[in-house]
Amino acid sequence: AFTADIVPQAPEDPLFGLMAAYRKDTFAQKVDLGIGAYRDDNAKPWVLPVVKKADKIIADDPDLNHEYLPIAGLQQFTSASQRLSLGADSPAIKEGRVASLQTISGTGAVHLGALFLSKFYKYSGQTPTGYFSNPTWANHGQIFDTARLSHKTYRYFSPTTKGLDFEGMMSDIKATPEGSIILLHACAHNPTGVDPTQEQWKQIAQVMAQRRQFPFFDTAYQGFASGDLNKDAWAIRYFIAQGFELCIAQSYAKNFGLYGERAGCFHFVTAPGSDAQSTITRIASQLAILQRSEISNPPAYGARIASLVLNTPELFAEWEANLRTMSGRIIEMRTQLRAKLEQLGTPGTWNHITDQIGMFSFTGLSEKQVLKIREDAHVYMTKNGRISMAGLNSHNIDYFAKAVDKVVR
Ligand code: PMP
Repeated sequence: AFTADIVPQAPEDPLFGLMAAYRKDTFAQKVDLGIGAYRDDNAKPWVLPVVKKADKIIADDPDLNHEYLPIAGLQQFTSASQRLSLGADSPAIKEGRVASLQTISGTGAVHLGALFLSKFYKYSGQTPTGYFSNPTWANHGQIFDTARLSHKTYRYFSPTTKGLDFEGMMSDIKATPEGSIILLHACAHNPTGVDPTQEQWKQIAQVMAQRRQFPFFDTAYQGFASGDLNKDAWAIRYFIAQGFELCIAQSYAKNFGLYGERAGCFHFVTAPGSDAQSTITRIASQLAILQRSEISNPPAYGARIASLVLNTPELFAEWEANLRTMSGRIIEMRTQLRAKLEQLGTPGTWNHITDQIGMFSFTGLSEKQVLKIREDAHVYMTKNGRISMAGLNSHNIDYFAKAVDKVVR
């Protein structure tokens, strides 16, 4: 019989725990640099103006109802998502070798991909292991565990340069068994903010092709990193152009500010070839069964908003401008933070603050310093020294720079 008393206590999610601690803190100048969600210059969540506009158009639609979406989600949304990620002129789309399902944001897309690979991906009769960058988004491991896929890591971040350990990464990927699943962050790596250059991506692709590895792209920050949607999708498009069979987990949480609406998409791309279409039809049929058994069909609201914007040229242009507002403010905070630390003569080098990109920066602060800065200055960041750049603004950046200066001296 099931005995409830043998269920062990699980630890609290560190990030959501940090959020709760921040909320409880009554200190007026407290600073939240924990969760990866965009904030405006007044530390407030920002509803993108284009999302407000789309929201109104949808609400005024007399034909709007709350019927179920199809199992694979809103078709206009998933096809626009393909174009956004793979590129409108992608040969993979033209050749009909992409299967796409709307998912519960990026998390759901990673999960659906992991579940599918766990069930169907065999290499020499074995289910391959997944390899993650060290470090990676904390949820990757849990999601693979839930899908019963084993996982290990490859070197990625160099604590000395606070940049990419490219040699370590290459030699670890080379050393993984043939057919391994290699999880790659398409842009704006979480938590480090460190991405390979295009030249480095080419070398990574070359090694992975030699080793017949399976790329699993996680793309949660397209357009948010550089402000340019195409630039941020470069790696994915390059791998597809090399003929890889791969999958993509796409999130609209950050780039549309649709965090709680859970809008995302999963794409499986087969390699070119005469049987590509029949393969993709079979893959899509299996993905549909997995989806049906888990969520039946995805939620409509966020996908409707994103779909309207993605499929309406004027709204799309406005979205791009909104993306530039967000990425521009973050880049400005990077510049200012580095300048302030350098002005203060804070021990250490601070070029990594402006070299790293996207939502996060790996400051290099130790766990001890992170706890001290929380205790002394009420500044909240994750234990690994990661800060969400979006939590900084013109009102708190001086305060934060001084607190960092104090804690590293
Ligand atoms: N992957 C990475 C690397 C992320 O940083 C995130 C967001 N924190 C996600 C996936 C998915 O987030 P969501 O489920 O909110 O789209």
